[in-house]
Amino acid sequence: MHEEHFDYVIAGGGSAGCVLANRLTSSGKYKVCLLEAGPQDKSLFVTIPGAFAYFMFSKKYNWCFDAEPVADIRKGEPIFCPQGKGLGGGSTINAMIYIRGHRVDYDHWASLGNQGWGWDDLLPYFKKNECNERGGDELHGGSGPLYVSDCRNYYPINERFLQAASEAGYPLNNDFNGAEQEGVGFYQFTIKEGKRCSASHAYLRPVRDRQVLTVKCNAMATKILFRGKKAVGLEFRQKGELKRAYANKEVILSSGAYNSPKLLMLSGIGDASELEKAGITPFHQLPGVGQNLQEHVDSCVLQESLKTDGFRASPGGLLNMWREPFRYLFRRKGKLESSVTQAGAFLKTSEDLAAPDIQLHFLPLLYDDSGRNLKLMSQSGYSCHVCVLRPKSTGRMSLRSSDPDSPPRIDLNFLDHPDDRKTLVDGIRVARKILATPAFDDYRGAELNPGPEAQNDEDILARCKERLGLVYHPVGTCKMGQDEMAVVDDSLRVHGLESLRVVDASIMPTLTGGNTNAPTMVIAEKAADLILGE
Ligand SMILES: Cc1cc2nc3c(=O)[nH]c(=O)nc-3n(C[C@H](O)[C@H](O)[C@H](O)COP(=O)(O)OP(=O)(O)OC[C@H]3O[C@@H](n4cnc5c(N)ncnc54)[C@H](O)[C@@H]3O)c2cc1C
Repeated sequence: MHEEHFDYVIAGGGSAGCVLANRLTSSGKYKVCLLEAGPQDKSLFVTIPGAFAYFMFSKKYNWCFDAEPVADIRKGEPIFCPQGKGLGGGSTINAMIYIRGHRVDYDHWASLGNQGWGWDDLLPYFKKNECNERGGDELHGGSGPLYVSDCRNYYPINERFLQAASEAGYPLNNDFNGAEQEGVGFYQFTIKEGKRCSASHAYLRPVRDRQVLTVKCNAMATKILFRGKKAVGLEFRQKGELKRAYANKEVILSSGAYNSPKLLMLSGIGDASELEKAGITPFHQLPGVGQNLQEHVDSCVLQESLKTDGFRASPGGLLNMWREPFRYLFRRKGKLESSVTQAGAFLKTSEDLAAPDIQLHFLPLLYDDSGRNLKLMSQSGYSCHVCVLRPKSTGRMSLRSSDPDSPPRIDLNFLDHPDDRKTLVDGIRVARKILATPAFDDYRGAELNPGPEAQNDEDILARCKERLGLVYHPVGTCKMGQDEMAVVDDSLRVHGLESLRVVDASIMPTLTGGNTNAPTMVIAEKAADLILGE
């Protein structure tokens, strides 16, 4: 069998993996191998911020998982769970919204006993990661690898959304990552000069010529290799051949919230009885692997528009867009230089809350089923998506079989907790209140969801469930902590094993209040310091 030796071997070249590959090779002292199951990120679609929809249909760049169907959710259809595949991982296919979360999220992690993970501990890493085009200050980085820019070329209806929110009594906020998260405004994006700034673009491309860095694409890790309790390498498959990459120092899993626990389980690490059911011989008992799955549950108010200045996936709508590819290709300008989600909000459904508990994503189109509902999207309209920022319902992922190619079984368990149901319904009322203000009078057509007949909580919830979706932020399946369900300690080392860490979104003990790309990159920035510091 083909074998190679390195100091560190990383499984997964996504948001976290790219940061690690950069930082661990920066001194030139350590040989690092980055294994990525997906392809290189060389497609033009990766570069174009406005090409988000393409990835919802691409099996090349998207694992395209489906969660287990539930009878009263989406009428029993499975919920689509896109996950990035290829260099950059999620950051290569995401909507590029730059959000850090709220300080209460990290202070909560620290209060659980995770030393060094409070907001004040992590702020220096957020700054190290960020190059904000507005410049650096006490809260923002001005010279980090990840470029963060303001929204350009937005659809005019976004202005109405801000005006409407103001009319509804909500404060405006021009920096959701500033001193206050609460308010309504335009997002900032990980876009540089009209091009997507993924983790791969920010961290990997600039250092690909380092002698000590080996990047292998289309290389899927299938098993962790052990000597006793010490991880010594990864077995992986590339072009149909099984190969081995050995690590003198450490093996690091950065395969994302579904694939990192999957790799642990394929290697016999997890709950023994579960593993046996999947035909795997248990090696190390860790009942928390794959448990504690948290994701941002989302539903929406869908409103027909009397105007046609939004986006429509109809022949007429696409014809309106005919200039855009040329404007983009020749000048990196126009609608394609921006993400399609441009404005949003962080709001409280009740005044006594310490932090916003819902996030709104406003879209100048009728967006449902991750943009795959093309029939709906061909009509003129706008959507206000509502997500529950700190869901109390937790789900789980498990193996279907011992075959590494078999997709994970995902049980989201959405809305199991009554508080999540209440927050979602209250959030829909907030969205409706904003969309009902005079600012939208000349746009407002019929409400398609929840629909005018849904007025009491029960009816709103039932209609929301029919359009239920997610914001693509799975976390928590290898949670950091000290209790018996924790998978890693606060240095991200797998409990009870040696030389094995997990570094990605799966280690979050609880979901952050916002989009998860920047928090995941910051986890990797901190992890690199922890690893090199030892
Ligand atoms: C469609 C979509 C839209 C999103 N929009 C936003 C947004 O606008 N803003 C935001 O902040 N966040 C957004 N997110 C979330 C954010 O991108 C993720 O939270 C983040 O990328 C997670 O990083 P990660 O390193 O944990 O995993 P990933 O980035 O998913 O990286 C895991 C990598 O490991 C690879 N891999 C998996 N298994 C193996 C294996 N066995 N061997 C080798 N490699 C393997 C995968 O192919 C992947 O490249 C979005 C996500 C998606 C999917």
